[in-house]
Amino acid sequence: MANTSQKLSPFASFMARLTKAAEVLKLEQRYLDILSNPEKINIVSLPVKMDDGSVKVFEGYRVIHSTVMGPSKGGIRYADFVDLDEVKALAAWMTLKCAVVGLPYGGAKGGITLNPKKMSEGELERVTRAYTRSLKDIFGVDTDIPAPDMNTSGREMAWIAHEYARLKGGNFPGVITGKPLDLGGSKGRAQATGFGVMLTCMHALKKLGIDPKKQTVTCAVHGFGNVGSWAAKLMEEQGLKIVAIGDHTGGYYNENGLNIAEAFDYVTANKSLEGYKGGKSISNGELLTLNVDVLSPSAIENCITLENAKDIKAKIIVEGANGPVAAEADAVLNEKGIFIVPDVLANAGGVTVSYLEWCQNRFGYYYSEEEVLKMAEPMLSNAFERVYDAHKKHNTPMRIAAYIVAVERVSKGIQMQGEY
Ligand code: GLU
Repeated sequence: MANTSQKLSPFASFMARLTKAAEVLKLEQRYLDILSNPEKINIVSLPVKMDDGSVKVFEGYRVIHSTVMGPSKGGIRYADFVDLDEVKALAAWMTLKCAVVGLPYGGAKGGITLNPKKMSEGELERVTRAYTRSLKDIFGVDTDIPAPDMNTSGREMAWIAHEYARLKGGNFPGVITGKPLDLGGSKGRAQATGFGVMLTCMHALKKLGIDPKKQTVTCAVHGFGNVGSWAAKLMEEQGLKIVAIGDHTGGYYNENGLNIAEAFDYVTANKSLEGYKGGKSISNGELLTLNVDVLSPSAIENCITLENAKDIKAKIIVEGANGPVAAEADAVLNEKGIFIVPDVLANAGGVTVSYLEWCQNRFGYYYSEEEVLKMAEPMLSNAFERVYDAHKKHNTPMRIAAYIVAVERVSKGIQMQGEY
């Protein structure tokens, strides 16, 4: 788990919301039981020769939460806090995310407990290849399809695709998504998650009658990795005033609006926002509680908790990260009337374009960036409307509505598959 103060673990947060959605739906117990337990948990130990000649053993995970709606899909995360509880939660959220959008996928997630900043490129390549060897019979074009997540990118996906091709003999680009463009990746995949954050944010603003063309709409983005940086850039293009951004080095605030293109270039050159002078330095705690219209927590789970929930002033929260709000903070935020676009909807742009990448790999035909985003747009907009309709119909917050949409779909799938 990412943070240390007392709060529900990511999987406990998933369970709290699943249970709530099941109550609203009056879901039969068997569906709740099935969805509460991952189908398969793989834990692998990965001995790796380090640059200094020593051997270090890393722990890796691949949790398959559900394959009811199709092959399981979900990224691989590298971080020193990765543990089984977190990977289980992330896998379950993938099941919900794919079901909310209506993708023909179940959910999975992988991770290796390591600090990538303390490892050389060669060491990272060796641990990635070891992980692929250990899971070669789990991964598959029609069984389990990984992708990037925190601290992994096209580079790691290329190593995995290559190791897998060697092991299986052949070329299977569809076994993994988020690949570099030259190796069968999809145009539009880099900005895809941020694109979905922007799009669902624009839908939320519209529902609340806020028009950035007619009034100033301020926004703070927590996290400036692949998700946060693209979300900030694309929301700025839509006329939002991005007054604060932040990453693990802290927050940067400018009441007149930051220049996101400049911050983007700064991070490309310097790897983080450390030393960025475009805004006044603030803490991440201050960033989260700024008086803004939109807050997009796009970094990590559990950054909004019972402790700081009462201080959140945003009207809308668009969750670029997976699980940024711990479940015990839900009631406080709901009471304040904050409109939340939950993670399984707000950050579903990534897996949606992953799906389009997988389709292209299967056809062997590749679309332009414009075509990809044009296909992803209605998929995400329809998902927003489905969740919004459930929110109105059941008079329940958007988060529980998203769980309801997903749980209804997956439990129907289980029911149609018949006896077990
Ligand atoms: N890691 C991303 C997520 O959490 C993308 C997963 C994928 O593309 O399969 O949604």
